[in-house]
Amino acid sequence: MEKSTLLNEILEFNHQFVEKHEYEKYETTKFPNKKMVILTCMDTRLLELLPKALNLGNGDAKIIKDAGAIVSHPFGSVMRSILIALYQLKAKEVLIIAHHDCGMSGLKAEPVIESMKERGISEETFNTLTYSGINIEQWLHGFDNVTESVVHSVGIVKNHPLMPKEVPVHGLIIDPKTGKLDLVVDGYKN
Ligand code: ZN
Repeated sequence: MEKSTLLNEILEFNHQFVEKHEYEKYETTKFPNKKMVILTCMDTRLLELLPKALNLGNGDAKIIKDAGAIVSHPFGSVMRSILIALYQLKAKEVLIIAHHDCGMSGLKAEPVIESMKERGISEETFNTLTYSGINIEQWLHGFDNVTESVVHSVGIVKNHPLMPKEVPVHGLIIDPKTGKLDLVVDGYKN
């Protein structure tokens, strides 16, 4: 789709959507009916598949998405979102759902950096970031093993100093084709 038409098409559709009261069938509250917060990947295949495969409708869950379903920093925005969901939005359980064939699996920083350079980011910019103490390679790096990544992220959430102790944190991997879930960490058991 052309860059110049995408936004216009969205706005045009949106006007009709509101005009025809299409939103009425989605009306719900900000509190998750099923009292859970899910962290999953931004993968396009999961957009509709994941909620359907988990029997989730609008209003059922808080869903946080990032590249890889990774909690990369204990005081980053993902962790903050999980804590807000638990303390302010009545979520009672956490599910971290990564998936097979993830773009972050085996992702190396080098090709991404090369691509940035080709798109006009200067060598000087990278040098400045390095001098500022930012490790771009580490920051861009994905994971080598999806199961280990899920276990690691579950650990960060479960052991976070601000986590309520009784909250179960589950770890799962979803198949982006069939929607099948594999249980990695059963949060009721640890
Ligand atoms: Zn992914």
